[in-house]
Amino acid sequence: MRPVLLVLGTRPEAVKLAPVARALRRRGLRAVVVSTGQHRELLAHTLAEVGLRPAVDLRLMRPGLPHARLSAGVLQGLIPVLRRLKPALALVQGDTTTAAAAALACLYEGVPVGHVEAGLRSFDRANPFPEEANRTVADHLSALHFAPTPTALANLRREGISGRWAMLTGNTAVDAVRWAARRAPRRDEGCLLVTLHRRESFGDPLAGMLGALVRLSERFPDTPVVFPAHPNPAVRAALRRLPRRARLRVVAPLPYRRFVGLLASCRLVLTDSGGVQEEAAALGKPVLVARDATERPELIASGGGILVGRRPRNIEREAGRLLSDGRALARMSRAKNPFGDGRAGERIAAAAARWLRSVR
Ligand code: UDP
Repeated sequence: MRPVLLVLGTRPEAVKLAPVARALRRRGLRAVVVSTGQHRELLAHTLAEVGLRPAVDLRLMRPGLPHARLSAGVLQGLIPVLRRLKPALALVQGDTTTAAAAALACLYEGVPVGHVEAGLRSFDRANPFPEEANRTVADHLSALHFAPTPTALANLRREGISGRWAMLTGNTAVDAVRWAARRAPRRDEGCLLVTLHRRESFGDPLAGMLGALVRLSERFPDTPVVFPAHPNPAVRAALRRLPRRARLRVVAPLPYRRFVGLLASCRLVLTDSGGVQEEAAALGKPVLVARDATERPELIASGGGILVGRRPRNIEREAGRLLSDGRALARMSRAKNPFGDGRAGERIAAAAARWLRSVR
């Protein structure tokens, strides 16, 4: 049987493709994982935790590797793999350079692509960069489109991507977080959980946001501010410049299930991560989104999230308001999760199976 390839390179791709791999295997399909190693450090542990074992690892990550080199490496590395494994279909996920470059390699080798989490758009090519461009490229090179929300599906239609194989599935992040929450230890009840790692915030914007967090930790001494810090050198450098008195609890990146345990027990989330927004919504946690533009407007529309941007004063004001108003926090946690029902992996596997039968 020709395999279905799952090409991934970063932690969020591993998290979000794991439910798809499990569902494909439940249907008796041969799901083969290929890792580009775009984020080696964060990826290896996450893969093991979510039960994915790559058959091939291109090991592309080098510190400071520019996106152009990474794209070239994915193209060069993946093409012989495609020739050798002859997949019937390749799945890519999200908006990474791995997803865009893998879709291009598949185009050159005549391998059809399915895009998991298709149709997200911030409509701003600089925010997030280069992710907005990556997901647009991946969508336009794919034959199957798995849109997580009606808004994402409508975005695809506006770009001329429609028909039977562009469908609404929900986001597999919801499947993943439910799976993990059942296996997660709970800790740090009632913290403000922070993750900030977007490239466009490196330098002054990140330093400013950290300043706002320091002030919040002083104003709300009973609410620990916990920051699992991304290993990116720019994030590390900003954290080293924090004042000594800072009461932030900066920790190393957490294993996925421990992170989900923390998310499930926190009071409020401040993040610029896409996946963390979806997971927080699935667990009923209020979110402040530290971005200037969002490709996940559903969270804001649902009332579960507020787009606070990256200005320190706005972050401090909104977080301060919510931490001192339990009713407002409770209202946000009751918002309906707009990202799906936890069965996206199953829908994607079912559609892939239907598609494979249709082309046989
Ligand atoms: N995550 C994790 N440990 C951490 C922080 C995040 O396992 O310390 C997980 C999180 O649950 C989510 C994913 O990493 O599934 C999000 O990845 P990231 O923020 O790097 O990327 P994005 O979602 O913005 O693409």
